[in-house]
Amino acid sequence: LEVIASVEPRIADATRKELADQRASLKLIASENYASPAVLMTMGTWFSDKYAEGTIGHRFYAGCQNVDTVESIAAEHARELFGAEYAYVQPHSGIDANLTAYWSILAHRVEGPWLSDAGVKNMNDLSEADWEKLRASLGNQRLLGMSLDAGGHLTHGFRPNISGKMFHQNQYGTDPETGLLDYDALRAKAKEFKPLILVAGYSAYPRRINFATMREIADEVGATLMVDMAHFAGLVAGKVFTGEENPVPYAHVVTSTSHKSLRGPRGGFILATEEYAPSVDRGCPMVLGGPLSHVMAAKAVAFAEARTPEFQGYAQQVADNAKSLAEGFLTRGAKLVTGGTDNHIVLLDVSSFGLTGRQAESALLDAGVVTNRNSVPSDPNGAWYTSGIRFGTPALTSRGFGHDEFDTVADLVVDVLSNTEAGTNKAGAPSKATYVLGDGVADRVTKQSAEM
Ligand code: PLP
Repeated sequence: LEVIASVEPRIADATRKELADQRASLKLIASENYASPAVLMTMGTWFSDKYAEGTIGHRFYAGCQNVDTVESIAAEHARELFGAEYAYVQPHSGIDANLTAYWSILAHRVEGPWLSDAGVKNMNDLSEADWEKLRASLGNQRLLGMSLDAGGHLTHGFRPNISGKMFHQNQYGTDPETGLLDYDALRAKAKEFKPLILVAGYSAYPRRINFATMREIADEVGATLMVDMAHFAGLVAGKVFTGEENPVPYAHVVTSTSHKSLRGPRGGFILATEEYAPSVDRGCPMVLGGPLSHVMAAKAVAFAEARTPEFQGYAQQVADNAKSLAEGFLTRGAKLVTGGTDNHIVLLDVSSFGLTGRQAESALLDAGVVTNRNSVPSDPNGAWYTSGIRFGTPALTSRGFGHDEFDTVADLVVDVLSNTEAGTNKAGAPSKATYVLGDGVADRVTKQSAEM
């Protein structure tokens, strides 16, 4: 930090404050974690200075021999960690991984066959009229993914997102009564819509998915099954999700982030079958810019960490802690979407406290409990104010929290929310954003959480 301070002291200061904040608060954001010192240090090296567009052994720049080493080791760890036929570790983030996967599936299933039907070996030979036809056929494909308010991600075909614009999209939800995935309803929708790509995976669904059933549905309609395991990759790596709950043996393509439950550097990666590997391997430069070699190096370190028995213990504890947190909420009378959890996420419906998600999120932050508001299925408050708070256990489990600590976390959260009232705007009308926190609650909660 002294080196940074000698150039731009404000950045050194903000960095120091970020460390202090992350240490002082209860980090319950389901997509965050604490990467190890080895992972963090690997990101701050000279690999940051290197350009390496292309793929291993086939670069558009000279002098990439060390990047080749790093990328090969990261890909090898990823393949072995997840039992995948092929791994691509270049995507800069989860969204980049999804875009690369979409393009690869289009390239493999639409562009390739189109070119071979047209008898074209080299794309430079295409006439303008042929380009028009190719564009039209690429742009006329269908994607079916889980809706945002059921727990899916923006990139799973949410209309305003690029994924909802580049495809004809359709979305499946969850059962309105139970909040659970309804595979029969999904199957019926898939049969009617006939997607090229069926996307499974989530950002805010507190349950496991049966990927064998997902693959059956995909096969019945001729779809490619793409699983986005960004959130639960750590639970797959740590062998908490096995058998039909492990997407890798069932999906054609699996995308992920490396920084959530997997506890690596910020980034993405893709696993694929041999069949899809050649088109995924062309992700850079067809979709992605030059790889972040320093981050690929840090992914290799994180994957190596995730291959240890310690990481398996950690992953199991993440899932056990989510159960403890859910039970802690339920025994204190709170309402949970789906009534509980069997992954790392707990989705609390805060409407019974008379609050919107936005008010609850702000009140909790005042008390040092960092979360994010989240829609609940068919949310009456929409995607901005919402009616839910999403909690995740990966970060605090990294800090060593267990059952008792998570029971205390549930107690603190319920204490804050029961002592918060919805506020009004300047004109005195009800507001979905403002709130009034009861006297002394923030101090009480901050003091108790500092002791944990
Ligand atoms: N996929 C899922 C399921 C996610 O939850 C997220 C992030 O929250 C992403 C993709 C995007 O990841 P990133 O922020 O690294 O682009």
